[in-house]
Amino acid sequence: MHLLIQNAEIASEHSIHLTTGDIEVREGKIHRVGPQLPIPAEARVIDGTGKIAMPGLFDAHVHFREPGFENKETIATGSEAAIQGGITGVVMMPNTRPAIDCATVVANVLEIARRTSRIPIYTSGCVTQSRAGKALAGIDGMRRLGVKMLTDDGDTTENPAILLTAMRYATEFGMFFASHCEVPELAGPRALNEGVMSYRLGIQGSPACAEEIIIDRDIRLAHTAGAHIHIQHVSSKLGMETIRWWKNRGDVRVTAEVAPHHLMFCDEDIGDFDTHYKMNPPLRTRDDQQGLLEGLIEGVFDLIATDHAPHTAFEKSQDFVSAPNGITGVETALVSLYDRYIRHGTFGWDLIVKRFSAEPRRLMGLPVAEIAENAAADLILFDPLAETTFTPQFMKSKSINTPFLNQRLCGKVSLVLLGEHILLDSF
Ligand SMILES: [Zn+2]
Repeated sequence: MHLLIQNAEIASEHSIHLTTGDIEVREGKIHRVGPQLPIPAEARVIDGTGKIAMPGLFDAHVHFREPGFENKETIATGSEAAIQGGITGVVMMPNTRPAIDCATVVANVLEIARRTSRIPIYTSGCVTQSRAGKALAGIDGMRRLGVKMLTDDGDTTENPAILLTAMRYATEFGMFFASHCEVPELAGPRALNEGVMSYRLGIQGSPACAEEIIIDRDIRLAHTAGAHIHIQHVSSKLGMETIRWWKNRGDVRVTAEVAPHHLMFCDEDIGDFDTHYKMNPPLRTRDDQQGLLEGLIEGVFDLIATDHAPHTAFEKSQDFVSAPNGITGVETALVSLYDRYIRHGTFGWDLIVKRFSAEPRRLMGLPVAEIAENAAADLILFDPLAETTFTPQFMKSKSINTPFLNQRLCGKVSLVLLGEHILLDSF
C-alpha cells in the first residue's frame, strides 16, 4: 500500500494547535510528513482537506464478552465496532465465562483474537479465581502470556487482604492493578445513583460513597504495597478529588480513567426509565458530571476509556432494576466527544490524542502511535463537517444498547489505517 494524504489537519498530544500537512504512508510505515509533499507516481491520493488526522485511538476498558456471552458480543464484532469508532487497540476485561483468570483462558482469548480481529487485542486478567474474591488467580501464568493489568472488573476485589497480597506479589513482576470501585453492601441493586432522581423514580439508589470508599481504599493498599493502581470508570466528583489528592502527594503510582458517558450525561438524563442510561457505576448528579469534566481537562484523569458493555436488546428491554448494567461505547465515543465538547471548544484535539491514544498505550507499556516519519502506520482521519447516525445498520457491535441509538451527531471517522491495511475507508 502506498498512500498520500494531502492537506490534513494533524493533531498531536503536545500541541493545542493542528498542523496542516501531507502524510505519505508506504509499506506500513509513515514515510514522510510535511507541507506539500511530491505525489509519488503509483500512490493513491486522498484529499485530507479539513479532516483531522490523528493516531489511532486505544481503549483500555472494553467488554468483548468472549468466551461465554457471544450472544452479546464476540471479539470479531467488538473489534469491528472499535474500528468504526477509530480505535486501533483495546484491552478486554476478564469478566467472561469462564473468567479470564489463568493462562489457559488467556491463551484461548488471544488465539481467537489473532484469528478474528483486525486490530491488536490485549486482555487483562483477574485478580482472584473466577473473580470470586477468595483465592488468587493464576497470575504468573497470565503474565507469561503478556498480561499486564489485573482486575476483577465488574466487581471490587472485596477482601482487602487478598488484594494487598496480590499487589505485593504481582508488582514484583511489573504488573499493575485496575479497580472497579464499589462496596457491594452499599451499592444495593446497582440501578442508579442515590439522590433526588432515585427518590423521584422510586428506585433504591447506590450512593457515591460506595465508589469513593474503595477508590481511597485501593489507592491506600497500593501505597502500602508499592503497587501501581489504576482506578476505572470514575463517576463521582469526590472520587476524582480523592484521586487528585493522592496524585498530589506523589508517593503512590495512581492513574485513572473516565468514561465518555460519565462526561456527557447525568442522572437527570435517565428520563422515562430508559435502560440505555443504566450502567455501573451509575450516572450521578450534574455536579458530578461537571466535576469529572474539570478533572479530565485538569489532567487528574490519565485516560478516556469507554467501558464498552454490550447487552442484547431483550436484556435491556426489561424493567429498569432488572436490566443489566452497561452501554456500548467504542463506536460512539469519538464522535460524541467531538459533538458535545471539541466542537464547542471545551477541549482540543490534543486532549483526545493524549488521553485516548497515547496515555492508554503508555499504561499498557506499548509504543505510542504517532504521526511522525518512520513511525508505524496507525492513524485515523476524522471529518468534522460530516455526520454520523448511529443506526443498527451502522453499528458493527452485536448489541445496540447506546443512548445514541438512531441519533445523528456531528463528525465522522472517515479513514482508519493500521500497518499495511486500510481498515475503514469512506473515500
Ligand atoms: Zn467496572
